[in-house]
Amino acid sequence: MTTNIFFVCPHCGNDTEFKIFTSSFRVIKQSPELGICIEESTALPSLRQKDNHIECQACFHILEYDSAAAIGKKYIQTTKRLRKYSQNIPASV
Ligand SMILES: [Zn+2]
Repeated sequence: MTTNIFFVCPHCGNDTEFKIFTSSFRVIKQSPELGICIEESTALPSLRQKDNHIECQACFHILEYDSAAAIGKKYIQTTKRLRKYSQNIPASV
């Protein structure tokens, strides 16, 4: 399973639904709150074996798989840090 991989579209900010084109084709749904993939369609054989990219389901922007994964990783780290930070601020302030 691709548990540690999270994608975010730098084009429109979509961080939930993507199509994955690698050696197989599948559609994934992510939880931005959890930072993980929560739903994954059955992998279908890809028509083009050399594919290695993802497609944003919101704006159809195409991203290279590895760079998209790197962006997503950074994105998760940042949101986690922000969430931790905001939890440390007293609600009464
Ligand atoms: Zn997009």
